Amino acid sequence: MAAFGNVAQEIAQTSSKAAKVRLLAGYLAGLRGESLCLAARYFGGRPFPSWDQRVVGIGGATFFHVLRDVSGASDEALVAAFRRTGDGGEAAYDVLGLVLGDGGVELTDVDLAFDQIACARGIAARQAAFADLLRRCSALEAKYVCKLMTGELRIGLREGLVEEAIGVAFAQPAAAVSRANMVAGDLGRVAILASANTLDDATPVLFAPMRFMLASPVADSDEVISRLGDVVWVEDKYDGIRCQLHRDDSRIELYSRDLKTITAQFPEIAEAAAALPFSQLILDGEVLAFRDNRVMPFAALQTRLGRKSPSAAVRQEVPVIYVAWDVLMVDGDVLLDTPLRDRRRRLEEMKLGDIFALAHLTSVTGATELDAVFDAARARLNEGLMVKDPASPYLPGRRGLHWLKLKRPLDTLDVVVTGAQWGYGKRHGVLSDVTFSVRADDGDLLPVGKAYTGLTDAEIAEMTSLLLEQTIDVAGSYHAVAPLIVLEVAFDSVQPSTRHRGGYALRFPRIVAWRRDKSVEDIDSLDRVRTISEARARDFDQLIERGGSTPGS
Ligand code: AMP
Repeated sequence: MAAFGNVAQEIAQTSSKAAKVRLLAGYLAGLRGESLCLAARYFGGRPFPSWDQRVVGIGGATFFHVLRDVSGASDEALVAAFRRTGDGGEAAYDVLGLVLGDGGVELTDVDLAFDQIACARGIAARQAAFADLLRRCSALEAKYVCKLMTGELRIGLREGLVEEAIGVAFAQPAAAVSRANMVAGDLGRVAILASANTLDDATPVLFAPMRFMLASPVADSDEVISRLGDVVWVEDKYDGIRCQLHRDDSRIELYSRDLKTITAQFPEIAEAAAALPFSQLILDGEVLAFRDNRVMPFAALQTRLGRKSPSAAVRQEVPVIYVAWDVLMVDGDVLLDTPLRDRRRRLEEMKLGDIFALAHLTSVTGATELDAVFDAARARLNEGLMVKDPASPYLPGRRGLHWLKLKRPLDTLDVVVTGAQWGYGKRHGVLSDVTFSVRADDGDLLPVGKAYTGLTDAEIAEMTSLLLEQTIDVAGSYHAVAPLIVLEVAFDSVQPSTRHRGGYALRFPRIVAWRRDKSVEDIDSLDRVRTISEARARDFDQLIERGGSTPGS
């Protein structure tokens, strides 16, 4: 781990990408076996492969406690170290420097300890296993252990650069390394394959879920056509839960967008999948709440989330379906490189039936037709459209230009900032995460959401100094501020919420503009939020009266 730390330090110190790749390649080329696997994986910033269900991360408070125990530092010193560095690893290095010895843990020791932490039952056991690992480290080793625990190295090394370095270290083409990583979801395995000259052996593994293919946002239909050409494939953009379904004989697993197992939450989908006439299967699609032949709003599906397994009553109240848009493997045929048009044909031939449906697909020519299809999708209360290139392969984990997403905000609101939180990483040292409020009937200001995106770095810096001046209370990293800064925020929908005192939450809020021209007197009311939410609920009801929306309609 010491060698890993030294190389990481050197990589952090240069801003040249070529130099970073050279340094890493030199280090990796000298490793073999388990050490190579772990070093490559760790330089990707992950303690485990991306598909691994083990979680090593511990909450901020626990992390803080362990650092305090091991270092003997005061709370004030720890808070100052976090504030100064904005990074758990750097803070650990600061406070552990004087107490830790020469260390000498190997990468394999760290791997073992990570497994123990991940498998420990209860907070106390996790804390003890983490503290034990730190005590065996030098300060530098501890720094990188902590960075891995918090999920980011922050040494200016994107995953793509680690891929490049693996290619350079073992004289393999960059494209082959990158493809193997998309499929394997583990730089460790990729490094081993590269060192053995067997990158082509990377194929999807059942129950090692692949990262999902993602879409890039586009502004309007014209942009879609200019990027993909005149004839495009258009699917509805459903608002449910992304889900990769794996089957191998009687074993079925469902994986969410962050590759966590969600099988137990949707037992009816697993049961239906078990009845399909295929022994091996990987599907990509979305779980939707669906009752009386219609798609229910996302809020309904939310009642199925966060439960280990649904009761019979919940299953009956919020039944679900699986809308598939891709098949990635079926009975031994790996289809990742097969063009979408042929994958879709395979999917249609599979005649899934039961609680499976296929994404609504149309072929569209030109921007005007695309606009009309978009309006129709919105009328069915879908979020918007996904536009796909029929000739494209399935690229796991890539947000490329083969898939584009077209959505328009539901509306915008003028809101006032009533609180702000210190950001992390690139945003450390600035109050970048703002809580915003609207005016209630009695004049009170009630929060309806939080926004992190939409302002420039310069605006955030300026807003931070204003917010510091306007701070009226501080609780941990949260500053309650006087209501002076007005923002215009866009959002995709509004839903009732118990999380916010206002009783509503905006979904996907983003800052459109800092309205310096407006003051708190000009902000929108809770009544307007209520009206937007109720209008949407009414639209749903009307849609239902008209016969509802089926995923294929
Ligand atoms: P976004 O969350 O806005 O980045 O949009 C990407 C998400 O849209 C995916 O992760 C899916 O959950 C969802 N989605 C809905 N309909 C589709 C579709 N037809 N094809 C691909 N993704 C879809």
